Amino acid sequence: MIDCDFFINEFTYTWNMIDFRSDTVTKPSKAMKEAMFAAPVGDDVFKEDPTINKLEQYAADLFGMEASIFCASGTQTNQIAINIHVQPGGEVITHEESHIYKYEGGGIAKNTGASVRLIRGNRGRMSLEDVQKWVNPDDIHLPVTQLVSLEDTSNRGGGAIYDFEEIKKISTFCKQQNLPLHLDGARLMNSMVENDIELKEYASQFDSISLCLSKGLGAPVGSLLLGTKDFVHSARRVRKVLGGGMRQAGIIAAGGLYALENNIERLKEDHQNAKLLETALNNCSWVSEVLEVQTNIVVAILKENSHRDLIVQKMLDAGISVMAFGPGMIRFVTHLDISQDDISKTIQAINKIEL
Ligand SMILES: *Cc1c(COP(=O)(O)O)cnc(C)c1O
Repeated sequence: MIDCDFFINEFTYTWNMIDFRSDTVTKPSKAMKEAMFAAPVGDDVFKEDPTINKLEQYAADLFGMEASIFCASGTQTNQIAINIHVQPGGEVITHEESHIYKYEGGGIAKNTGASVRLIRGNRGRMSLEDVQKWVNPDDIHLPVTQLVSLEDTSNRGGGAIYDFEEIKKISTFCKQQNLPLHLDGARLMNSMVENDIELKEYASQFDSISLCLSKGLGAPVGSLLLGTKDFVHSARRVRKVLGGGMRQAGIIAAGGLYALENNIERLKEDHQNAKLLETALNNCSWVSEVLEVQTNIVVAILKENSHRDLIVQKMLDAGISVMAFGPGMIRFVTHLDISQDDISKTIQAINKIEL
């Protein structure tokens, strides 16, 4: 009975709801579920899951990197990468709004015992100048800088795309300094479909890359961590010690493989939908500014901070779920479970809100 009640609650809440809170809310499509159902599986801790092996090889080939490893979440892939690159007492250079710092439960301190140098920068992005400035000299008083980590697209930056020229400069600098460069590419594919950069050339700038399969790509679970063979070998060890060694997980990896094979190009549709929301929000009397939409995230800054919760509630009453995103800000994330029709309904609801 309890299960049944839960089902009904979830049904009434999400079935009708147009859910913009995050692109993590996507549910596997019928075709994806069929691929999962049909997937051959084995014990992945023994490296015997054919579907996981196939996904890891497929991703490595796609990125032109030596190897990859399938993990439970983007937090896990980022934390594993940091743990391999950085020693206790070392320091990570990252943006002050980065996911690895802000939304991973203090994992850099907890899992690796490392220090963080937080950098400011436009919409979640750091410049070469900032990075250069904060690499510590060899002075026994200072923590040893051991990693630079970028995020593309930037989540807190409202889906902002990193300038590839800047990435190349940072990468060249890091190579000169013998500093590994990590990419939190949770939404990397949202960035890649918006430019003509070759994925392999992009990937070659980094020592490790984390990619979420469970966001706009639409798989139910999982992230990939890419790097050299040696790096991925170490990652397998760290994943195990974090309790992330999974057994017949090919059943979920099949969703990830399906996502990489089918759901990348369509991300552009989510970006077009986000643009439509941007235009509508820019015309609202209660919106002060919308961060220029570059991918699938729309952040509206409200005229009055105090209106935020009221607006979120009015949207909920209209069957639309959005996220409060800090003081005076709301966030819409478009994804493969948001249709054109949902966008039209949402724009109507936005236009009806008067304050
Ligand atoms: C979602 C996200 C992650 C991973 O989050 P999980 O909830 O652990 O899957 C990592 N980095 C960024 C920028 C994200 O948006």
